[in-house]
Amino acid sequence: MRYSRGMAETIFLKIIAGEIPCHKIYEDDQVFAFLDIGPLSAGHTLLIPKEPAETLDQLSDESAAALGRVLPRLSRAVLKASGATAFNILQNNGASAHQAVLHVHFHIIPRFPDATEGAGLGIEWPAGTLDNETGRRLAADIAAALSEE
Ligand code: AMP
Repeated sequence: MRYSRGMAETIFLKIIAGEIPCHKIYEDDQVFAFLDIGPLSAGHTLLIPKEPAETLDQLSDESAAALGRVLPRLSRAVLKASGATAFNILQNNGASAHQAVLHVHFHIIPRFPDATEGAGLGIEWPAGTLDNETGRRLAADIAAALSEE
């Protein structure tokens, strides 16, 4: 499989093409799922579009819909097979947001809160506050940008 949009060929495109091995879970015309090679917990799974977009904001509506259709089903399967009752979906965009592979991917990470190793995703959540004026302005700016999409 070769794409010609001037994108660097990533390791995930090579996985889709079968050029490098993976523990494959699922594939259809638009998406591909496989185990993460460096799991945070047992069952850590990656779901990717076949479309070679680097970040979520660059993805077509068609690929986005295909991912959304599979994600809940795949999450249920990961929960059932891993025995976890909780999980995180992680989706990083950009190097400063911890994205290492420049091909859109959703992590499905089972959470085992009592485990000493392989507990899953640890989260730092340095929450701030939102005053009314800032909230009004930000919501209006984002809504205006959305209407131009
Ligand atoms: P991110 O930091 O969101 O870009 O995560 C990239 C993920 O891809 C990491 O969790 C890696 O362990 C995973 N990864 C990298 N190479 C492979 C590979 N060949 N097979 C499976 N997972 C991989």
